[in-house]
Amino acid sequence: MSDDKKLIYFDNNATTPIHPEVLEAMLPFFGPKYGNPSSMYPLAMASAAELKKGREKTAALLGCEPREVIFTSCGTESDNTAIWSALRTQPDRRHFVTSRVEHPAILSNVTLLRKLGYRVTEVGVDEKGNLLWDQFIEALTPDTALASFLWANNETGVIFPIEKMAEACSERGILFHTDAVQVAGKIPLNLAKTKVDMLSVSGHKLNAPKGIGLLYLRRGVKYAPFMLGGHQESGHRGGTENVPYIVGLGRACELALAHMEDENTRVRDLRDHLEAGIIGAIPYTRVNGDPANRVPNTTNISFEYVEGEAILLHLAAAGICASSGSACTSGSLEPSHVLRAMGVPFTAAHGSIRLSLSVSNTAEEVETVIKAFPPIIAKLREMSPFWKDDGPAKDNSMLTCETGSCQVCGG
Ligand code: PLP
Repeated sequence: MSDDKKLIYFDNNATTPIHPEVLEAMLPFFGPKYGNPSSMYPLAMASAAELKKGREKTAALLGCEPREVIFTSCGTESDNTAIWSALRTQPDRRHFVTSRVEHPAILSNVTLLRKLGYRVTEVGVDEKGNLLWDQFIEALTPDTALASFLWANNETGVIFPIEKMAEACSERGILFHTDAVQVAGKIPLNLAKTKVDMLSVSGHKLNAPKGIGLLYLRRGVKYAPFMLGGHQESGHRGGTENVPYIVGLGRACELALAHMEDENTRVRDLRDHLEAGIIGAIPYTRVNGDPANRVPNTTNISFEYVEGEAILLHLAAAGICASSGSACTSGSLEPSHVLRAMGVPFTAAHGSIRLSLSVSNTAEEVETVIKAFPPIIAKLREMSPFWKDDGPAKDNSMLTCETGSCQVCGG
């Protein structure tokens, strides 16, 4: 791509650009306003005052009390903190409940927990990515220390019924955590009205920098810190607070609240138009995830008989940034665990692309992307051994990663 060509950024679930007003708010704290908020002189007290404001602004987005916000370094730290706090404060309970479609920030803990002798139940989803409710309820036992479920899926955008799930856990005396990294700033939240005990947010998904996150800890919930150190964050997380980034996150939360309506109307319309434009123009495509139950900015589309990574390379050459649901480049032949949990057929899961928009995207960009897809998919299908003329080649029975040789990507 030539340098003067404008980049079209449709990968906002991976990360978002820092909003110029967020950067502007942060800059003085890299310069003259460098005080440590724990110290006792005016320079430090100015930092402490900004820390307080940052906490108030993030709490306003979440609909909780400022003292229920613990600043962390990222969404992953918040997720880990929630899990290990629940297990350490209830040593007699040895069971953890989660879903099959979580982010690795949760699922990597599952592997370790099993090694340590904990029992883990991973609840499934249906073919649209919606939670299997009966399985969820059956999984809750008197031995369950924590149930942790993401609020919206990062790959498909599908939303879990978190308020209802938290109620069910509360009725059974079970702690409930949700990874809200993909919903904060996208859908209205009012935690005071829910039974959610802990919730994770990541700054870089809502136009704040990478390296800042938060954990909401409902007042009265027993807690064991993950980071031991000084008495920062009311003893909930050791380590000098990252004042510039907390100021940035606070401003980003303010802006997200202001843009919420735009996100829910204009961004949703753009996403729906994009999706219909692509699906309408290309045969053998499908949307992964319940179209009626998603965050407004995300679509996940499968292009059968082509490989997601190859599509990404062609999109990148056209200046378009997106993500794929296949993991071939990481050395694994497996397509996304989320799409597999939904039972998406192999030929479709391998060619899946996630497009995630934001309030910065325009209708003109959407039109450009709609036009970019058909020639790319046609070219890749021409090269695919499983495509002939205008449709799939007759025998596609070999298409399986489990055979050890991936016929779609050649891996
Ligand atoms: N949880 C979800 C659902 C995510 O999408 C991500 C990032 O992609 C994370 C957690 C991890 O957040 P962070 O990058 O701040 O650690």
